[in-house]
Amino acid sequence: ARKGKTPEEVVKRYLQKVRNSPEEDCTICMETLLGPSGYKGPGVASVSRAESVGRLAQCGHLYHLQCLVAMYNNGNKDGSLQCPTCKTIYGVKTGNQPPGKMEYHVIPHSLPGYSDCKTIRIIYNIPPGIQGPEHPNPRKPFTARGFPRHCYLPDNEKGRKVLRLLLVAWDRRLIFSVGTSSTTGESDTVIWNEVHHKTEFGSNLTGHGFPDSGYLANVLEELKAQGITEDEEQQ
Ligand code: NAD
Ligand code: ZN
Ligand code: ZN
Repeated sequence: ARKGKTPEEVVKRYLQKVRNSPEEDCTICMETLLGPSGYKGPGVASVSRAESVGRLAQCGHLYHLQCLVAMYNNGNKDGSLQCPTCKTIYGVKTGNQPPGKMEYHVIPHSLPGYSDCKTIRIIYNIPPGIQGPEHPNPRKPFTARGFPRHCYLPDNEKGRKVLRLLLVAWDRRLIFSVGTSSTTGESDTVIWNEVHHKTEFGSNLTGHGFPDSGYLANVLEELKAQGITEDEEQQ
C-alpha cells in the first residue's frame, strides 16, 4: 500500500487533463461524459467540473474521475489501475493471494509433446487461514483444497521463461485468489487466478494436461494481461 496517497491522488497520477469532454458515455457508469458520474456511493466527494473527466495517459480511454476512483476503491488498492476497456495496466498490478510457498525443480521425464526435454515441476502450497481486508469476507476463515498443487512446464527455453514470469506473478500475489471455486462451488476458498496451469503430467483427463501445443503462448498472454512480461520497460 502507498502511504499518504488518497485513492483520488493515485488515480490522478495516471490521468491527463481533458479540456472538452466528447459526447461519449463513460463505460464504467454508462452515463454521458458531458454530465456527472452516475456512480453514487459512500465517500464520493464532489469534484470540480474542470477535472470531472480524465484521460488515461497511455491508452487514452476517457472516464469520469469519480468512476475511476470508485473502481480503484473496489479493488485491492495497491497503487495500480487497470483500464476496464483495454486492460492497460498503470503501475504494478498485485493480487490477494494468501501466504504460502512456491517451489520448483526439474524432473527427469518428458511431457507428452515435449519428448526432447525434461520437465519443470512447480509445487504450490497454501494453508487455510483467515481472510484479510483484501479478501471477499474479511475476518472469515478460508479453506485451501487440493494442496500441494503440482504443475508442469517443459524444461526448454520457453518453459523456463514462463517459470521466471510465474515467479514474478507469485511475488505479486497473482497466482491464486480467495473466492468461489467454479469446479466445486465452495465459497471462501483458495482458487486459481487468471493464469492457467497444467496440473496433469502424463495424461489429459481434466483438460489441464499435455499435449497442448498452444499452452506456453496462452500462458504468456495471460501473464501479460496481469502486467507481467520480460520487456525491459515493464513497470
Ligand atoms: P476454479 O475451479 O474456480 O477454476 C479457476 C480456474 O482454474 C479456471 O480457469 C479453471 O479452468 C482452472 N482449473 C480448474 N481445475 C483445474 C485443474 N485441475 N488444473 C488446473 N487448472 C484448473 O479453481 P479451483 O477451485 O482452484 O480449481 C479446481 C482444482 O483445484 C481441482 O480440479 C483440483 O485440482 C483442485 N481442488 C482440489 C480439491 C480437493 O479437495 N482435493 C478441492 C478443490 C479444488
Ligand atoms: Zn462514469
Ligand atoms: Zn484503455
